[in-house]
Amino acid sequence: MNKALQKFFILERDDLDTLFSALKDAGFDVVGPTLGEGAIVYDSIGTAEDLPIGWTEEQEGGAYRLKRRDDRACFGFTVGPHSWKKYLHPPSRRLWSAANGEDGFEVMPEAPETSRYAFIGVRSCEIHAIRIQDRVFLQDRYVNEDYRARREGCFIVAVQCAQAANTCFCVSMNTGPRADEGFDLALTEMIEGDAHRFLVEMGSDVGEEILGKIPVKPASPEDLRAGERIVAATEKQMGRTLDTQGVRELLANNQDHSRWDQVASRCLSCANCTMVCPTCFCTTVEDVTDITGDHAERWQRWDSCFTMDFSYLHGGSVRASTRSRYRQWLTHKLSSWVDQFESSGCVGCGRCITWCPVAIDLTEEVSAIRSSAEQTGSPPEDKGHDHEKS
Ligand code: SF4
Ligand code: SF4
Repeated sequence: MNKALQKFFILERDDLDTLFSALKDAGFDVVGPTLGEGAIVYDSIGTAEDLPIGWTEEQEGGAYRLKRRDDRACFGFTVGPHSWKKYLHPPSRRLWSAANGEDGFEVMPEAPETSRYAFIGVRSCEIHAIRIQDRVFLQDRYVNEDYRARREGCFIVAVQCAQAANTCFCVSMNTGPRADEGFDLALTEMIEGDAHRFLVEMGSDVGEEILGKIPVKPASPEDLRAGERIVAATEKQMGRTLDTQGVRELLANNQDHSRWDQVASRCLSCANCTMVCPTCFCTTVEDVTDITGDHAERWQRWDSCFTMDFSYLHGGSVRASTRSRYRQWLTHKLSSWVDQFESSGCVGCGRCITWCPVAIDLTEEVSAIRSSAEQTGSPPEDKGHDHEKS
């Protein structure tokens, strides 16, 4: 067999459940896209029937609507308000608890996470977002052990995007739409007339083991070409573009640009953009006690640079104005993130555009600053600013 073909197989749609069963038999908690809360969200998946079969969505700045498709595609949509960080870096997590006993307070550390997740339907931009969080939590001075426990055992089933949303710009960020690596298996959904099949690409040894348990057959060169055509068509559908050329320097040099005042007059400081962003990772810590005072707990919760408390130091908030908070968010994503983590903090998923209640669009903000750059900051040295294409 042609060597390039040895990694590609065909799985019939009717056999999709065998993939989920094989993952469950191997001990994974299978999670993936499903209908919920008026959107496509990530939750536990029992069988293929739990997927949003025959549904898609329409996205625009500040707008998201579910819509029926005219076929029974299982993955015929893009990304919703959830991202995989909800499993790898959960919105709230107890760090420890303490109980008052005969010998005084005893502090009990939280038991380590033992779930092994299989993520179904991970898009290329999301694989890049997971990599960014890997860099933050695992590859710096301090390793987040909880993240490590969740991340190390997880199995990734990617899905090659067969359509882009109006808010997508992964092509600009070099993060998609094709998932090239970082997955165990990658599916391309192919529907032609009555034929409904998946082209399956093997991406790891664990992926190969799972493939060995499901009824696949080798893909043909024409199957590969059909898969490539699907992703190539998606590439041309991007609803947004972001010119990343020199964006790190552009934002760093324009810290007093009048555009920050304009965007601040619309921004509600609601923090939606940071909650839906798959790379944002900031948290706060809260201590709680019960009414008796005999039981106390410390919780970690997602926080946002848009809240007043986030930058509170003794005496007040460092970023007291909405202008300074929006500027902090955007310049961190596209500029100072590069200094911190050697890549952009944005993967072009478009969630922050869709879920902003007043339709603030970072691609529009960057373009406005670019078109009337006022050069009000001090110029930093030149560095790269987007993601390396694998
Ligand atoms: S900044 Fe917006 S487009 Fe970029 S990764 Fe975050 S949510 Fe997606
Ligand atoms: S940019 Fe939009 S989503 Fe983000 S804090 Fe402002 S109003 Fe909320």
